[in-house]
Amino acid sequence: MTVSLSQRIIIFSLSCCILFTVLVVSVVWSSYLLELAYSRDNYAQQLAKQTNTLKQLVATDNIYASRYDSVHWQSLQNKLNRLLMFPPKLTPRQQTLQNSIYSQNENVKRLFNQITNNKLKNASLVIKNHLKAKLMTQLEATSSDSMQLSEIAKTDIYSTIKNEAIFIITVSAASVFLLVFGSLRLTKIVRKSLGEVKLAFEENHSGHFQKIQLSHHSQEFDSIVNAFNDMNDKLSETTVSLEVMKKVVEERTHVLEQLSNTDPLTKVANRRALFERASMEFSRAIRGKKNLSLLLLDCDFFKDINDEFGHLVGDELLIHICKVCAHEIRDIDFLARYGGEEFIIVLPNCDIDGGIETATRIQHSLAEHSISIEGKQASVTLSIGVSMLTEKHKDLEQLINDADKAMYKAKENGRNRIEVLSPSNLH
Ligand code: GH3
Ligand code: MG
Ligand code: MG
Repeated sequence: MTVSLSQRIIIFSLSCCILFTVLVVSVVWSSYLLELAYSRDNYAQQLAKQTNTLKQLVATDNIYASRYDSVHWQSLQNKLNRLLMFPPKLTPRQQTLQNSIYSQNENVKRLFNQITNNKLKNASLVIKNHLKAKLMTQLEATSSDSMQLSEIAKTDIYSTIKNEAIFIITVSAASVFLLVFGSLRLTKIVRKSLGEVKLAFEENHSGHFQKIQLSHHSQEFDSIVNAFNDMNDKLSETTVSLEVMKKVVEERTHVLEQLSNTDPLTKVANRRALFERASMEFSRAIRGKKNLSLLLLDCDFFKDINDEFGHLVGDELLIHICKVCAHEIRDIDFLARYGGEEFIIVLPNCDIDGGIETATRIQHSLAEHSISIEGKQASVTLSIGVSMLTEKHKDLEQLINDADKAMYKAKENGRNRIEVLSPSNLH
């Protein structure tokens, strides 16, 4: 079971209250015990004082005198009797002494009455002295017991002070310890938990969605942490899907880029991609004073093929031509559909002879690889115009134009041919 912070505070406050109450009660109880101890000491001192006075009276007065007046003795004796009748609350040991003093006083009273009643007129001096000595002895015994009672009462005061002081110091020390320990522990729990929550927020901010693991559990912080961890779970899910989305968008963008540069039928580069790449190669060849050749290929009598085999077969043939061309060119060469049944191949670092060679390879390969559709053999030939970059060419269009002119020359000269413009006909 997790204890809440407020429960901890309540338990801590209650413990402090209990200890404080114990402290107050023990102080009150101690003062009561001290007061009692002092009253016992006071009582014992009064007893001792009374018996001493009686002793002095017997020693100084002639109690055998015929005109002896015992009023003074009686008043002192009454005082002593009252003291003995109403003692304060005594300890068992003190009570034993009190009982002894009481019985001795009874003896004193009896002896004094014996002496003063018949005055022992006819008694011998020896007997008189003996009785007086006996009375003195009793009084001395009473006085001695009273003194002893006083001594015991004094010792009790010291031991009461000592015991109560030890008890109060112990309770105070326990209170201080509980107060310091409790407040330090509460502070530690709150500070540590706050620190852990703060750290998690910082980690979260920097993109690390970590769950909080509290070192000290409390209902208040546990509920905050649970809410935080739930939020973190959702955040991390959202962030993951954002990353996935980013990937998907990148992939789709790449596909779209591919589509925008690709001819949908033949899957080779389209006209847009052709001009982009050919312009780049054109600039690079001029910059690097390198050769650059270009082939323009046009299918011969393609209309007739369409008419004979159908448009779909025509499409298949166009795809077939692209495959043949792609197979016969180098990696650095670039094949594109220029339009309808016309294609252009850009040949970087290639002179006119290289261009004618490539064109020848393509024508031969196409002648060798016809395609069969629905049992019929469909074949096509290409008229190819070749042009090479010269100083006369100011832009790419001029180079294409020359290849186009050469291609028309091939058409004019009977088709399925490769033609190059004579230098005088170049741009
Ligand atoms: P030549 O060039 O030898 O003079 O004769 P030709 O029959 O090829 O003449 P032309 O270039 O005028 O005609 C091109 C034909 O190619 C016309 C068109 O129907 C066909 N064609 C163009 N694009 C496609 C295509 O994508 N698929 C099919 N099947 N036919 C196409
Ligand atoms: Mg054409
Ligand atoms: Mg044609």
